[in-house]
Amino acid sequence: MFKKDEYFVLILGLDNAGKTTFLEQTKTKFNRNYKGINLKKITSTVGLNIGKIDTSNIRLSFWDLGGQEELQSLWDKYYAESNAIIYVVDSSDENRLDESKSAFDQMISNASLQGVPLLVLANKQDLPNCVSMNIIDKLFCQEQSDMIQRSCKTQSASALTGEGIDEGIKWLVNCIK
Ligand code: GDP
Repeated sequence: MFKKDEYFVLILGLDNAGKTTFLEQTKTKFNRNYKGINLKKITSTVGLNIGKIDTSNIRLSFWDLGGQEELQSLWDKYYAESNAIIYVVDSSDENRLDESKSAFDQMISNASLQGVPLLVLANKQDLPNCVSMNIIDKLFCQEQSDMIQRSCKTQSASALTGEGIDEGIKWLVNCIK
């Protein structure tokens, strides 16, 4: 039987950014048989959520890690295995943008992630008064502290409504296959 190549994708970002909602939405969109759970009932990730999706030619295995400060120190244990990163930013929470950028800078400077493709998800764009996608793009994609070449894209999205998810995943698949 034809077996698809499997790639590992880490989903990172501060707690409450929408990582778990993003993973559930992605599984619901891409797995025809997956019934899904009520997205509004999701609470912040404390352990680890795992999910797989099959695209037309590859399988993606997602690891959604907890984003609370005390859990961020665990992120780097997973870097060596990862083929791509999705960094989720809560666009509706301007007050935590600096905190998110600091966690991001710490992550991106890790040598194990050199050259790994990065999708920045400007999430919660369905809410009013969001930080614009252009500001998030400039901060996270264009001003990376390590200056090392990697494929990077900022995707405007709502994990809750599903907007922007297909485009983001499509871009990622093209980068890593
Ligand atoms: P995590 O801690 O990063 O895993 O974040 P969750 O997925 O648990 O989401 C945190 C909260 O934000 C929940 O109340 C979600 O319903 C809400 N949320 C997540 N994504 C979106 C979004 O795109 N739009 C809106 N309006 N709320 C969202």
